[in-house]
Amino acid sequence: MSRAICSHCHRAQKVCICDFIQPIDNQVEIGILQHPTETKQIKGTAIIAKNSLQCFQYWEGESLQELPGLVNWLNDGKQVYLLYPKTEDADSMVKVQGVDFLKSQDKAAFRILILDGTWRKTFKMMQLNPSLQKLDRVALIPSELSKYKIRKQKNEQSLSTVEAVYELLSQLEDSESEDKFKPLLTAFENMQQQQLAFRQ
Ligand SMILES: [Zn+2]
Repeated sequence: MSRAICSHCHRAQKVCICDFIQPIDNQVEIGILQHPTETKQIKGTAIIAKNSLQCFQYWEGESLQELPGLVNWLNDGKQVYLLYPKTEDADSMVKVQGVDFLKSQDKAAFRILILDGTWRKTFKMMQLNPSLQKLDRVALIPSELSKYKIRKQKNEQSLSTVEAVYELLSQLEDSESEDKFKPLLTAFENMQQQQLAFRQ
């Protein structure tokens, strides 16, 4: 029996998330490099950011050698900051900036790269790609604890990818409407409810 697949989100119809998505006109460009094992993960949340954000880039892979588009994006002159939770292991040449510093910068002059995968996979991506290790980093202090119910998190401070994107953008963009990025969290909540419903 073949499963019906949504042509927009490429998920099975019963877990299609398209109804939950609202387009968001973000100013700070976000790029996500997704580990291939995460792409098929039904509980993965990067797809919410991918389908909502207007200023967004996405790559799937493990090694930059297979991703010339990402290599260009990293080297075309704009400052790129890597959102990576472990800052203590950063090379001494690598700067770790807080969100407050980035807020004072021209929002069109920098972009943020996020690695999407389990802790182990993102660590491996860092090991495999010295040019990722050399990127300056942005340290994010979440304002709220994760609401990820359907998937175990590394620790209390860990956020799902879409929550990290929400925190970053809402802290970085002093937007006239404070709810600008809330649709990301609403979609996340709806996606979780949809999956929890199958467990009953
Ligand atoms: Zn869909």
